[in-house]
Amino acid sequence: MGLRDLLSKPGQMLGDMAQVANLESVVQWGQSYSLWPYPFATACCGIEYMGTACSDNDIARFGAERPSFSPRQADMILVLGTLTYKMAPVLREVYEQLSEPKYVVSVGACASSGGMFDTYGVLQGIDRILPVDVYVPGCPPRPEAILDAIMKLQEKVKTQGLESRRQEVMRKIQELNERNKPLVVQ
Ligand code: SF4
Repeated sequence: MGLRDLLSKPGQMLGDMAQVANLESVVQWGQSYSLWPYPFATACCGIEYMGTACSDNDIARFGAERPSFSPRQADMILVLGTLTYKMAPVLREVYEQLSEPKYVVSVGACASSGGMFDTYGVLQGIDRILPVDVYVPGCPPRPEAILDAIMKLQEKVKTQGLESRRQEVMRKIQELNERNKPLVVQ
């Protein structure tokens, strides 16, 4: 019997100690309180994020106060602002470089839907290229809305196992690849 098996049955006695949680839930709990963000800021929502990261809002309560500017040391990417078609491949590449398991938060109307910029040069929502986990409404979103998104993501991390996470990402990427297939006119 390995350590994983031994620690997978809450309620059992281990000598004179009672096991109150299984290993996976403890790991997920720890992970949910150390979600380091990669702020991908392209417009004014980036300034809103800076306000959110200021001391008034105490984002450290959620263990998300440490922005990483290397995707290799980040757990979630916050997309903050308008995304042009020119920048879309850059965002996708940064996403690919994040370490697994990785999460995507779409912050504000522009990132989520193109916002007011319904033009030929602006991507109408980052979910056309990335598997988004949480959408934050608003233009600009208030700091409370960004903190609420982090809390929603924490709930997801605490309850979703690695395998179901992998399946969700694969399904979303398959869907968006399907949607992005070029239209062939015959
Ligand atoms: S949603 Fe509003 S505040 Fe955010 S980048 Fe777009 S225009 Fe700026």
